[in-house]
Amino acid sequence: MPNSVVDDLLYEARLYAARFGRPHSVVPEKHLAIVTCMDSRIDVFGLFGLEIGDAHIIRNAGGIITDDVLRSLVLSQRVLKTREVVLVHHTDCGLQQIREHEFREKLRADVGEAPPYEFGAFEDVDAAVRRAVERVRAHKFLPSRDLVRGFVYEVETGTLREPR
Ligand SMILES: [Zn+2]
Repeated sequence: MPNSVVDDLLYEARLYAARFGRPHSVVPEKHLAIVTCMDSRIDVFGLFGLEIGDAHIIRNAGGIITDDVLRSLVLSQRVLKTREVVLVHHTDCGLQQIREHEFREKLRADVGEAPPYEFGAFEDVDAAVRRAVERVRAHKFLPSRDLVRGFVYEVETGTLREPR
C-alpha cells in the first residue's frame, strides 16, 4: 500500500489531543457564519483573526450558495444563534477554470451522463460574490438577513476587498 498522508494526520491528532485546552460552546462566540471556498490558500482563521469556537465556517468549491449551504445557514441561525453572515470568494478560483457546459459535456463523454448538480462555474468573481449575497438575503428561512456581507480575497496579495 502506498504511503498515505493519513498516517501523518493521525500522529498530529494524537499530539493535538495531548495539548487540548478547554472545550468550547456549540454556539459560536461571535455569532458569525462564514461561507468560503475550499481553496487551500485561504486561511480563514488567520485572515479574520478568529479562534476555534468563534464562527461557523462553511466551505465548498467556490464558496457558492448551494441549497446545502442555505441548509447549514438556516441551522446556524435558528439552532445555533448566529446572526451575521460573511461570504468570501477569491481570485484564481478553480471554478473560473471551467465552463459549466463544457465540463458537463466532458463528464458525459467520460461517464455517460452528467451529475444532477451544478458545479457553479463563474468568470467574474465580483459578480459571483454579489449574486451570492443576494441569494442569502433572499432566503426567507433565515431570520437574520440584513447582516450579510460579501468580499473578494485576493490570493496573490492576501488582501480582502469589497466586490467591485
Ligand atoms: Zn476557489
